Amino acid sequence: MSVDFGVIGGGLVGRIAALALADTQAEVAVWDKANQVVVPSADQPLTLRATNIAFLEKLGIWKHCQAHANPINQLHISSSGRFGCLHICEQDPIAYVMARRSLDSALNKAINASTAKLHLGHSVDSITVEPTGLSCEIQAKHNVQTHQPRRIIVADGAKSSMADQLGMNIVAVAGGFTSSVYKIQVSRWHATKAYQRFYPHGAIGVVPAATAGQCWAIITQQQTGHDQEQTLAEVETMLGIHLGTRLGDLVVEKKLGVYNTTLQYREAGDCDYALNFGNSSINLPPIAAQGLNHAIQELQCLNMQQSFSAWQHSNGSVWRNALLEKLSLQRQRLVANAKLVLAMQCSHGGFSSIAKRLSWAWLGADLNADSIVSRRGQGYYR
Ligand SMILES: Cc1cc2nc3c(=O)[nH]c(=O)nc-3n(C[C@H](O)[C@H](O)[C@H](O)COP(=O)(O)OP(=O)(O)OC[C@H]3O[C@@H](n4cnc5c(N)ncnc54)[C@H](O)[C@@H]3O)c2cc1C
Repeated sequence: MSVDFGVIGGGLVGRIAALALADTQAEVAVWDKANQVVVPSADQPLTLRATNIAFLEKLGIWKHCQAHANPINQLHISSSGRFGCLHICEQDPIAYVMARRSLDSALNKAINASTAKLHLGHSVDSITVEPTGLSCEIQAKHNVQTHQPRRIIVADGAKSSMADQLGMNIVAVAGGFTSSVYKIQVSRWHATKAYQRFYPHGAIGVVPAATAGQCWAIITQQQTGHDQEQTLAEVETMLGIHLGTRLGDLVVEKKLGVYNTTLQYREAGDCDYALNFGNSSINLPPIAAQGLNHAIQELQCLNMQQSFSAWQHSNGSVWRNALLEKLSLQRQRLVANAKLVLAMQCSHGGFSSIAKRLSWAWLGADLNADSIVSRRGQGYYR
């Protein structure tokens, strides 16, 4: 069986990739090994950059989740024990926050309304590169199928076995880190204001939920090997010390999940017909909401290229190189910035320039700020 594009992995990135390709009239199949698109923590927050929203609108996703998205107009970034802070305040939203389940369900609705076909319970077991193209062996519920997609999008997550098979080797790793996500109640609630606070053991992000008085807190810390789970009361005290003056009295309601993360970067390999996106390309600790936002930005690039090029008539390497030319520099910059900020986290106080620290957060919020920081030569790992 043959389709234009086979997308391996139906996580957030795989499903957005499928919609981005279906939007260009390509025939798309998405295979995911899970029997249902599993939501590890449905109530976990996702922050989407405002600059990505137009693309989600174009793909028919945004209309299904817009009502659940809380706009953020202000971002307050500070560092414990250091003078000064950065306060970004815009009239238009710089980002939107929603529960992950809202985006998940919007994606499913958009996929159902599109020509892309999502095949759950389909595990891609192997890919063979043949002179004429690719051949995928897929373990479905009741049979083994062979497909020959013209191109492959690898989006099977950080432990990507497909990337391994296609020689998309891991070239950078740093970590590990643990991110804990909590739902909190605060007495000083600002519907549209988010906080990022760096402190000696990690970074705290607080984003407002849509319900008055409620926020999400994401605490990312470096693993030490002697880590002990903190009680809710301990977390409450810690948040109070670092953000109490801004958020007022706070109560930690519940822990929503714990995620072990590393910074991991895979190269794009040398298979002419395949490219990797999302966690199978760059996997980041969730500081400053970068992972999905970066992937959406890349998929926008893919969508543009597919819309304007006669890709069916070009060979695989021309197709892939044209895309990589656009993606490679951004990928390297993202990883370099991530390395820098994580190095700073590991040695709080080792770096004096708050601008570098802050630039990371800007990158998460605003692409325009990204280019300003870049022009000023700040925020880059040298
Ligand atoms: C606590 C936390 C908060 C975050 N907050 C934000 C945020 O606010 N903003 C942001 O931009 N990013 C955020 N991120 C990052 C974001 O969640 C990830 O970038 C994104 O989920 C990556 O999705 P993915 O589809 O690449 O990978 P995954 O979600 O890992 O999906 C991979 C899929 O591939 C499937 N699969 C694997 N192997 C196979 C196979 N052989 N065959 C078929 N299917 C296969 C799996 O079943 C899975 O469904 C956060 C991350 C965490 C942990």
